Amino acid sequence: MQVSEYPGLTPVQEKKLKLAVEGNCELCSEYFALSFLEIHRISRRCYREMERDPSTRILIVCHLCHQHIHRLPVRVKDQRAIVSRRSFFVRQDLRKILGYTPKPYSPPPDTYASEVYEEYFYHFPPGSFRLGG
Ligand SMILES: [Zn+2]
Ligand SMILES: [Zn+2]
Repeated sequence: MQVSEYPGLTPVQEKKLKLAVEGNCELCSEYFALSFLEIHRISRRCYREMERDPSTRILIVCHLCHQHIHRLPVRVKDQRAIVSRRSFFVRQDLRKILGYTPKPYSPPPDTYASEVYEEYFYHFPPGSFRLGG
């Protein structure tokens, strides 16, 4: 078993994080079984402003991409770019799982949230990430 780079993360949280990105590696965008995905922690030394939102400090990547990140290494700047490309919903899920509440916090009504979710999945149905070309 790999050593977690994110101490304090429970196995349940880790699993939820992987589910939040629908099993898709955030680097290569391929779909993987959850056991092939790992939580990478972006170096904090370089980015002091990440103190507050823990979701901006992690990437959910497959085992190979994770090795790649550490071996090359992939620049923190590029890792940050991946974080900033996350959809609103993924970001929201990750924060929720990590127990982070951005403030000011104003939860949308449930009905609104589910409508938006439906719309989201309408445009990006699960498994649509690997369209040819
Ligand atoms: Zn990958
Ligand atoms: Zn890592």
